[in-house]
Amino acid sequence: MRFEELGTDGLRDLIEGTADGIMVVDAEGVVRYGNPSAREMFNRRDLEGTPFGIPLLEGDTTEIEVPAPGGGTRIFELRVARAHLDRSEVFLVSLHDLTERRQAEEDRERARAEAEAAARTRSALLNMVAHEFRTPLTVIGGYLSMIADGSLGPVPDAWQEVVEKVNEKSEELKVMIEEVLLAARLEAGRLESESERLDLRDVVRAAIKRATGRGQLLRAQIRIELPPEPLPAEADAAQVGIILDNLVNNALTYSMPAEPALDVCAERDGDRARITVTDRGIGIAPEQQAAIFERFRRVSDGGGRPGTGLGLAIAKDLARLNGGDLSLEWSRPGAGSRFLLELPVLRAE
Ligand code: ADP
Repeated sequence: MRFEELGTDGLRDLIEGTADGIMVVDAEGVVRYGNPSAREMFNRRDLEGTPFGIPLLEGDTTEIEVPAPGGGTRIFELRVARAHLDRSEVFLVSLHDLTERRQAEEDRERARAEAEAAARTRSALLNMVAHEFRTPLTVIGGYLSMIADGSLGPVPDAWQEVVEKVNEKSEELKVMIEEVLLAARLEAGRLESESERLDLRDVVRAAIKRATGRGQLLRAQIRIELPPEPLPAEADAAQVGIILDNLVNNALTYSMPAEPALDVCAERDGDRARITVTDRGIGIAPEQQAAIFERFRRVSDGGGRPGTGLGLAIAKDLARLNGGDLSLEWSRPGAGSRFLLELPVLRAE
């Protein structure tokens, strides 16, 4: 339909029916016309003949706050244009209600700030608790090793097993506390990488070496496949080590009760290194795969093994901190899993 076809009635319906407020204000600042939406916005039965009360500047877009009938305020966007009516110059004012949008923005902002504050409190709390636990545990560990090495006299045979068990449990507790501390530091953004030039093959070899003791206890077979040429990278060796320890330890844990069979491979793929840890363990059900990288999330407890559910969350954060990423490449219940650690590698010299 063309504009000329609207007719006077059509034009009136258009102006009176629109959700935006439309007003005509004369050069003296007196309202000459206000459509129903404008009347509703200012909560006035009629506006005509009243002073508009807000300085008008052509081409201006301003926001005004108007008291709402039930308390609070409403926010309108106000636009001004100049027009001629009956040969006199007037201002055409249009008002658009922004109250709901502003409210939604404020709600979102408040929710974000609250979530941030909650995360800060949580990481401060975790940090404090873990620190407090660390000290007595160190003391316990000290006495335990004094018992174990005979400094406090010969250990009765009947005690041997108990001492070993207590030692093992205190080690588990120590690992968990260190995990909580690390997670708290990562969450607070207080962990940085100390990058150095390294060959990722050495980092993989070192991790396998650290896992040998536990691997032997579990009668695990760990196969390792590394390229003949170096995988040079700028990364934090300790942090990459933590990632690998996590993957290898999980692969051992979640293979039980069977004897674990692991494949640890590293290869270059363009400017990235692909390091995979594959097991033939219990696997992860498809519907649970998305959750395993969440903090404190444990899908299976590995047959009663204590854990914080933080390991993979930490490992992924550390991978990203070092410019890479960590993902679950595949997993099938009963068949096993493969985790993929990608890290940037430097060009070979
Ligand atoms: P934790 O081992 O302390 O429970 P993680 O963050 O390391 O925490 O792992 C989270 C969950 O992911 C584990 O509870 C386990 O259910 C699952 N998971 C991790 N690695 C494997 C794996 N190799 N095979 C099967 N499940 C795994």
